[in-house]
Amino acid sequence: MTTATAEQHRVVIIGAGFGGIAASIKLAEQGVEHVILEKLDDVGGTWLSNTYPGCRCDVPSHLYSLSFALNPDWSDSFSLQPEIWRYLRKVADDFGVVDRVRFGCKVDAARWDDTARRWVLETSQGVLTCNVLIAAHGFLSEPSVPHFEGIETFTGQVMHSAQWDPSYDVTGKRVAVIGTGASAVQIVPRVHEQADHLVVFQRTAAWILPHRGRPINDWERALYRRVPATQRAVRAFHYWSSEFLAVPALVDPQRRGRLLKKVALKHLHDQVKDPELRAKLTPTFTPGCKRLTPSNEYLPAIASPQTTLVTSGIDRVVPNGIVTKDGATHEVDVIILATGFRVTDNTFPELVTGRDGRTMREVWDGDGMGAYNGTTFALFPNFFMLAGPNTGIGHTSLVYMIEAQLPYLLQAVQLMAERGIDVLEVRPDVQARYNEMIQRKVASTVWNTGGCQSWYLDKFGHNSTIWPDYTFKFARRLRRFDIESYYQRLREDDRVAGLAAV
Ligand code: NAP
Repeated sequence: MTTATAEQHRVVIIGAGFGGIAASIKLAEQGVEHVILEKLDDVGGTWLSNTYPGCRCDVPSHLYSLSFALNPDWSDSFSLQPEIWRYLRKVADDFGVVDRVRFGCKVDAARWDDTARRWVLETSQGVLTCNVLIAAHGFLSEPSVPHFEGIETFTGQVMHSAQWDPSYDVTGKRVAVIGTGASAVQIVPRVHEQADHLVVFQRTAAWILPHRGRPINDWERALYRRVPATQRAVRAFHYWSSEFLAVPALVDPQRRGRLLKKVALKHLHDQVKDPELRAKLTPTFTPGCKRLTPSNEYLPAIASPQTTLVTSGIDRVVPNGIVTKDGATHEVDVIILATGFRVTDNTFPELVTGRDGRTMREVWDGDGMGAYNGTTFALFPNFFMLAGPNTGIGHTSLVYMIEAQLPYLLQAVQLMAERGIDVLEVRPDVQARYNEMIQRKVASTVWNTGGCQSWYLDKFGHNSTIWPDYTFKFARRLRRFDIESYYQRLREDDRVAGLAAV
């Protein structure tokens, strides 16, 4: 099929999670024709895929939602996954988003056609083209599945946390959990309740903070329903308190990060009485270097006689269990891989081919992963990414960052229509200066200097994931679309604004 005969759209959004749903609502409000391509069979993105026991959000519910679609009915101050997914599904229904989603449609390739001035997408449901492409595929969507020697010989079940098999019952089983990140910290207490024996394989101890979660009372819900301003006030409280308490500690860990360590050490001391176990559970890096993990149940589950904490490193998997480097065999019926996601090395950039014929991966292999304002990319015209490079945060809601990007991309789409612009592409010098600024700021933060290995850094130690400042500063930057930072090609003729030859 040629580009000319393929199905044509003004805008295509890839992914129907928080980003895709929010973008679709705002585009529809502006009357912009678009379609959403979603590889799964429902909306929700990460909140559809992650169904492991105990899965919940460690950002307060009132903050972890769209500002224009607050949910007065949250049942807990930190919601569980099913409730977040139901919220997203309801928003998608209420705003008519579901009708615009093509489910089960996987994008295999996206290529910029510079002659047609369109993106050409090869999908599992055929070829389609669009003038503007929005990638809302999420950066925590590709499970990282490490290869352990002999894993194929294991006779039990192996499950990644993000690919949970709901039909598998861990009751009475001997269970291995590999990993001690945010997912494991939520899985371990729930599995511990049901399993006969639990073996947790820890490569790096995690800083565990006290959890402040509590059920939300009926009267509070009634109040939020009747007086929405009260919920807005609670949301604002959560937002501003996490900005002003957490950001200084994270960006300036030497001077202002000590309190976090004190709180986490006291929590560990209160919950784990055995000094030997406590020593194994005491991290050696600065708190915040990896995502802070709040839990009141994780450490007691680890300290329980039904649990073995293994720190000697995995050597290989055998048919009946896991052999560690000290030669011990841990017999288990199921292995749960809470081993995280491919973030800086995921496959999405391999699918996207820009104006000069190189994929985004090839460009990033040369220049490093980066974007302008976390949203647009030199050499990739009319392409916007939600939750793109250096929009990640460790202390507040990613939904806030996604919403901060929306006015930027909506103004771009609007300006294109108003001024007859066919092609917009950020200038490489603008993008380079922006990334220099980001790298200068991130260099002294806890994510770069805290002495840990995390998904925030790529294999070269380059931080292309974190926004290293207050999040309201990100929102302020993206309030206006700075068209002067972009090359423009007009629809009517081939005049090029700001560029000799694109
Ligand atoms: P993660 O933080 O990347 O943790 C992965 C864990 O697996 C680490 O403990 C890691 O050890 C271990 N691991 C990886 N490969 C291993 C190997 N080959 N052998 C032994 N151990 C190995 O992943 P995650 O827990 O899935 O969390 C990822 C992100 O998802 C979080 O940072 C957060 O942004 C998000 N998340 C959020 C929530 C929430 O409440 N909002 C909940 C879950 C996840 P090392 O530490 O030694 O590398």
